[in-house]
Amino acid sequence: MKRNKDISSLVRKHILTLNPYSSARDEFSGVADIYLDANENALGAASGGPYHRYPDPLQWEIKQELAAQLPVGESQIFLGNGSDEVIDLLIRAFCYPGIDHIVIMPPTYGMYKVSADIHDVATREVPLDPEFQIDLQALSQAWDTNDKITFICSPNNPSGNTLNPESIAQVLEQAPGIVVIDEAYIDFSPHPSWVHQIEQYPHLVVLQTFSKSWGLAGLRLGMGFANPEIVEVLNKIKPPYNINAFTQIEALKALQARDRKEKMVHILQEEKTFLQTQLQALPQVEAVYPSDANFLLTRFEDANQTYAYLVEHKIIVRNRSRVLHCGNCLRITVGTRQENEVLIQALRQQNP
Ligand SMILES: *Cc1c(COP(=O)(O)O)cnc(C)c1O
Repeated sequence: MKRNKDISSLVRKHILTLNPYSSARDEFSGVADIYLDANENALGAASGGPYHRYPDPLQWEIKQELAAQLPVGESQIFLGNGSDEVIDLLIRAFCYPGIDHIVIMPPTYGMYKVSADIHDVATREVPLDPEFQIDLQALSQAWDTNDKITFICSPNNPSGNTLNPESIAQVLEQAPGIVVIDEAYIDFSPHPSWVHQIEQYPHLVVLQTFSKSWGLAGLRLGMGFANPEIVEVLNKIKPPYNINAFTQIEALKALQARDRKEKMVHILQEEKTFLQTQLQALPQVEAVYPSDANFLLTRFEDANQTYAYLVEHKIIVRNRSRVLHCGNCLRITVGTRQENEVLIQALRQQNP
């Protein structure tokens, strides 16, 4: 059943009426022989590349390719300078500073709260349970109408697990505002994406990114999938050329070489299994948590000691030991076979 929700009543009022910047390419988007409308340098780029024209403000070529590969239409896609920009714009669009809140479920990705803090929007925390699953009862008790956005991260960073789909469905049924499902690691997960559900839930935004499985963290390109009403709000408030020309060219190339991404995901999954087996055999490792992502949350006897030891050996992992439910845990990204072997070898020599 399709859930009814009036998006415009959730958007900050001044955004509904504001006049967005109109670029040269907004005012004439057809094909012409001579373009003298944007004060570009007609002679070319000093770097030699194809960069002397402003990029497509709405990135239609990338959206066309995404719409061909995913169960979404072009009008249901928003592209950001990293998913981090999409998170930032969502908070700006829906949350009144000093009045509204977002809801997050720690331990989770840090940017939701940082973004909210920047906008003077309070963050309400409803922790995941010790199995890293949603605490529905605590959530329903906590929610009020000023909770404009509820963030779910699945597979969750830093725990690596997928959140129970029945619980997520409950959140979608009951949340007072927008629900964001951050699927940065979805390509490493055997579970289906929530992108299939954006028609059913008009207040759902699914985030994915080119930073992990696609191997393009340096480009800064994130995707938001949602109903066109939300996409239009984001388009209205984004910087006009938020995705630069280089990123657009490279992302299109990557999308057209999708099999290369799939091969890398396959290799990284095998490496994850290898790393998991090797870690579990170490005496100082107490637990390796199951992971639907490209990292392994690993509990050590003494995480701070192991972290410092690895730094000495020029191996950097993420120390998450001060994070809720993650006592003595390090988050280890799956590397190449050689990197994984060097890590394991170093750990073997930690307590000779
Ligand atoms: C890595 C990560 C992202 C990626 O953010 P980008 O800005 O697209 O690089 C988003 N969400 C989570 C949970 C992540 O771990």
